Amino acid sequence: MYRTETHSAPAIPFYAEQGDECRLFEHAFEQRLPALLKGPTGCGKTRFVEHMAARLGRPLITVSCHDDLTAADLVGRYLIGDGNTVWNDGPLARAVRTGAICYLDEVVEARKDTTVVLHPLADDRRQLPIERTGELLQAPPEFMLVVSYNPGYQNLLKNLKPSTRQRFVALVFDYPAPEIERRIIVAESGADERLATRLVKLASALRRLTDQDLEETVSTRLLVVAARLIVSGLPELTACRAAIVDALTDDADTAEALNEVVLAAF
Ligand code: ADP
Repeated sequence: MYRTETHSAPAIPFYAEQGDECRLFEHAFEQRLPALLKGPTGCGKTRFVEHMAARLGRPLITVSCHDDLTAADLVGRYLIGDGNTVWNDGPLARAVRTGAICYLDEVVEARKDTTVVLHPLADDRRQLPIERTGELLQAPPEFMLVVSYNPGYQNLLKNLKPSTRQRFVALVFDYPAPEIERRIIVAESGADERLATRLVKLASALRRLTDQDLEETVSTRLLVVAARLIVSGLPELTACRAAIVDALTDDADTAEALNEVVLAAF
């Protein structure tokens, strides 16, 4: 007996638009221009790329950059197995060969030598030279390079160099407007309107605090996590303490101050 397989199109991940970023991204894709997404952590950059890749029907290859990430990690390396060496494409080379969207999350974290491979890919050449194999890959029209970074981190050394950033179309993200954020919380956690409204109010109160001890304030991600814990049955204060307050600070006094804001909101 034969089984018929149905190949339905993969679902497009939910993304609530903040402005005109979807259209902007589509135009950048059509024009074969790379994109730079900047904004605080947890404000929807990754979800946006997932959404756009699905909408454009392109595979997505994501790399979370860290301070040990080298050009070889992106491009590839020879691996030794069974006595012979075999070339192994890194995620960037794979994306160029297959015409995927390659998303380098927190690109400023990566080692400086990565800019050498990003430059020729990010300008009109759209080429990836693979020194070790002697190949020069020409990116197909469907390939797109997308990088993100968080301009909030106060590390001068880690700012993007002008020569790098000027090759990208910049899309600016921030925490969504209250009505959009409420919609996101409902969609992502199954929270009712009342709970979502409270969490959004709590977020605006917390975001008004300008505390020296806080590197970052509450993100949409943290609100969604708190909502999920509450929807799954945890008391509101316990959930907000774990998902928001203690996620934002290690300092006991700061935590107490944040907790006061939570108590006032619930
Ligand atoms: P970033 O990449 O900016 O750190 P993410 O894209 O990972 O942030 O967002 C974290 C979570 O917040 C997502 O998993 C999703 O649940 C929620 N989220 C944030 N913004 C949006 C949005 N605009 N639409 C849908 N979900 C969002």
